[in-house]
Amino acid sequence: MIPGGVNSPVRAFNAVGGEPFFAAGGEGAYISDSGGGRYLDLVCGYGPLILGHTPPVVVEAIRRQAGVGIGYGAPTEAETELAELVVKLVPGIEMLRLVTSGTEATMSATRLARGFTGRRLVAKFAGGYHGHADHLLAEAGSGAATLGIPASAGVPPEFAALTAVLPYNSVAAVEEFFAARGDELAAVIVEPVAGNMGVVEGRPEFLAMLRRQCTAHGALLVFDEVISGFRLGLGGAQATLGITPDLTCLGKVMGGGLPLAAYGGRAEVMTHVAPVGDVYQAGTLAGNPVAVAAGLATLGALVDNPPYDALDRAGAAIARGIESAAAKAGVDITINRVGSMLTPFLAPGPVVDYASARASDTRAYARLFHALLRAGVSVPPSQFEAWFVSLPLAESHLDEALAEIGGATETVFRR
Ligand code: PLP
Repeated sequence: MIPGGVNSPVRAFNAVGGEPFFAAGGEGAYISDSGGGRYLDLVCGYGPLILGHTPPVVVEAIRRQAGVGIGYGAPTEAETELAELVVKLVPGIEMLRLVTSGTEATMSATRLARGFTGRRLVAKFAGGYHGHADHLLAEAGSGAATLGIPASAGVPPEFAALTAVLPYNSVAAVEEFFAARGDELAAVIVEPVAGNMGVVEGRPEFLAMLRRQCTAHGALLVFDEVISGFRLGLGGAQATLGITPDLTCLGKVMGGGLPLAAYGGRAEVMTHVAPVGDVYQAGTLAGNPVAVAAGLATLGALVDNPPYDALDRAGAAIARGIESAAAKAGVDITINRVGSMLTPFLAPGPVVDYASARASDTRAYARLFHALLRAGVSVPPSQFEAWFVSLPLAESHLDEALAEIGGATETVFRR
């Protein structure tokens, strides 16, 4: 009925073999399947579920809103409340537009950059994934990397020619590119902490160079914080780095698991969006009240009790657990981790870009994946995704997670 049986290719088990389970429920740190299986969940809906499954505060907010309206087609005060909160938290955002998916956020941000600058060319990085808009699919990470689809069929070469693909974390290559074509660039879009070739941290000097070069050449710097926003801290990666992009894309955690995302940035740029300006972007379901209620409840919970230290400690403990189990089994592993997002690469490392990520032993990753699933731990079915730690796992189930993950890792790699 459905291509591959999945409504997003990352959910398929093509890279690891077998068939995905049908999810039937979720509570706290656990996801359950329709056959009665129950797993500690380190997929977390591919990022949104920082508070775990069905957090009462979010479920209650959804219920309350659903009782008074599930969609209006008119603005609500809650949308402005959410916008105010995001503006307060995220340094680079003075004004924002709510959309329904990360794909829409990045597609709209790059259109806005083109409209604002009057230029066509956009640069992205190999292994970076920014949703599935035509011009952003070149050498994309996530499912495209997993399935080995470097350039999607259906994207006309004329569109692809408007996207330059550069190596992540390479100051020299990017400076060379700016020297040659910087004045043609409308925007550079980058995940400040990459999550879609597995986790690869953007080096501070690399990101600072991007900021300098974009300013010098009149291009907009777009931080795609669809994963890192509200996951790594209340102000996203940009707050930690002290680097302010011109535009920021948000999604995932911001919607608390419901379809909600946003793009925003300097007011001077955002006022080019219709109906104020001439860059058109719209959405029937944009700012849907139920999704906004879930987003407000999630961000409210994060602001009231920032969980980032607890998540960081749990992420570190899990990374150490895998590392020591792999060492005992004598297998090469490189764990990249930033806060509560991590990827164990089956490679001697270091993993600093797409080329080094691709050097991983994906068959060994598949063995690890299945061993973990058998032990009751669900992780992404691909080497090129991030594992996410939820707050309930960090607070109440860390010991269990460490035991299962350590045991499965050691068993699967013991020679
Ligand atoms: N940008 C990044 C960094 C992402 O990780 C993703 C999705 O994984 C997207 C954009 C696209 O978001 P969505 O899947 O909500 O369209």
